[in-house]
Amino acid sequence: MDATLYSIQTHRLESSPNPAEIGAVVHAHPPTAIALTLAGISLAEAVLPEAVTALGGGVPTAPYATPSTPALAEGVARALGRFDTCLMERHGAIAVGRDAFEACDRRETLERVAQVILRAHLLHGNPTPLADAEIEKLLRLSGRFCRSRLADDVGAQFIAPITESGRAR
Ligand SMILES: [Zn+2]
Repeated sequence: MDATLYSIQTHRLESSPNPAEIGAVVHAHPPTAIALTLAGISLAEAVLPEAVTALGGGVPTAPYATPSTPALAEGVARALGRFDTCLMERHGAIAVGRDAFEACDRRETLERVAQVILRAHLLHGNPTPLADAEIEKLLRLSGRFCRSRLADDVGAQFIAPITESGRAR
């Protein structure tokens, strides 16, 4: 895991002018989230508000690589980018946070989001992503850095938290 943590920190420092502080990395094998990687169902698009406010947007997936190898660590770091969680195809999940509590909470949120998406598919639904404007609003409400899928293309932008009056500080 040291190699993975090193790769994540290095990649984050390179990919964002305002890297979020990473004080903890949690690795787990959440069954529903892993099943979605096997079924080819992506969580990269933010469908639920909770995914935006708690996880910063969608959850990318790193392609399969042999566990415990530098190739997997590099793939995870690349997929994670500025996000707070990512999946590893056929394997599990990584969540980062300022401390172990935040990282564990994000890992639990990731699995809850995966369970909802699975149920939507079982009901033959076709979950549509949240609109970019709604994602931006949710990011502002939660005071997070903009890590929407659009932000990946244009670089990280800080969105000022809005006050109770609805105005940006
Ligand atoms: Zn593992």
